[in-house]
Amino acid sequence: MPIYEYACRSCAHKFEQLVRSGDTPACPSCRSVDLERLLSLSAISSDNTRQISFNKARASARRVQRDKDAAQAAYEKKHREEGH
Ligand SMILES: [Zn+2]
Repeated sequence: MPIYEYACRSCAHKFEQLVRSGDTPACPSCRSVDLERLLSLSAISSDNTRQISFNKARASARRVQRDKDAAQAAYEKKHREEGH
């Protein structure tokens, strides 16, 4: 179901609306149906979702690497201390 952004021609209120085919949305502010459809947000939001999960994956990969580095540093430190 696509999400569209509308601008009301009567009161200039902007809003997003899930629109089933055949549905005519009305302005939530003034109930006018004299609306201008601005753009579909569904394509954009799925792009954003992909981008967000990509960033999350990258961030957790960085975190794992940092943990490995910390573990390695702790191991080497312990090793050096035990060597004395
Ligand atoms: Zn309105």
